[in-house]
Amino acid sequence: MDAPACTGRFAPSPTGPLHAGSLVAALGSWLDARARGGRWLVRIEDVDGPRCVPGAEAEILRQLAACGLQPDAPPWRQSGRGAAYAEALARLRAAGLAYDCGCTRRDVEVALAAAGHAHARDAERVYPGTCRGGLGGRAPRAVRLRTLRGGLPVVIGWTDRRLGPQRQDVTAEVGDLVLQRADGPWAYQLAVVVDDAAQGITDVVRGEDLADNTGRQILLQRDLGLSTPRYLHLPLVLGADGAKLSKQNGAAPLDLRDPVTALQAAARVLGLPRLEAAAPAVWLAAAVPAWAGMMRVPLNPANASSDATPR
Ligand code: GLU
Repeated sequence: MDAPACTGRFAPSPTGPLHAGSLVAALGSWLDARARGGRWLVRIEDVDGPRCVPGAEAEILRQLAACGLQPDAPPWRQSGRGAAYAEALARLRAAGLAYDCGCTRRDVEVALAAAGHAHARDAERVYPGTCRGGLGGRAPRAVRLRTLRGGLPVVIGWTDRRLGPQRQDVTAEVGDLVLQRADGPWAYQLAVVVDDAAQGITDVVRGEDLADNTGRQILLQRDLGLSTPRYLHLPLVLGADGAKLSKQNGAAPLDLRDPVTALQAAARVLGLPRLEAAAPAVWLAAAVPAWAGMMRVPLNPANASSDATPR
């Protein structure tokens, strides 16, 4: 079988049911993949075990199905992917790009304060590099990525399909990011890069709150010799208080008694015109060419028919 022209994905963390904001990411990634005649996959990002809520995965899949968003393959779960992450980490270590760090959170705070770096609220805590030269006899607590290369910072540039040209000095703005904690858990950054490559993802379409992760993810892709997908970061749904709607701030789960209304609300956030239909499949079939037109994606003839059912 020929490789599909495009593979998109929706990668929810099973920390609760989908809400209006997460449906925007699911729908945007589905429409983009379908408009290009590509595949659409779902990946359950359950690397951070303690944050996962029992039953959330099944509920998310049920919500997607009620909206007509069916993945083209059984969902992957990051909890079963440890061997792939370990292999990637071993490659980074072998290349001298990953090192053990023995610092506690408090050690990092103290070192930053001593260096005169007050920690702004919501700002990244840029690791001061204490363990870059060795652990100094301390026990390892985490493995970090070396972002200072031959004494030089790493600056990554890319073009987001909605936000335009982007640039990040990963060394100054992010620092030596954690890849794995010593008590086991893998960092989202490593897991997402390894899985996007393993699943052949060509197009990452997700919420704008994740845009800031892109620079470090591209750096990891380059370090691991993986290709970089296209990136599209979508508008966020804001709550009444102006903050991003999230499971953590108690966003209401989607009301699936009327999935077309939920899809219409998500489409409005995406900037699509209002489309009327009695059933999700019919609504989705009309939304595919509307998305292709809006995003100037050449519509794949395979999707130009009214049949939007997954292949
Ligand atoms: N699992 C992440 C989340 O639910 C999304 C990661 C991604 O799309 O790259 O926020």
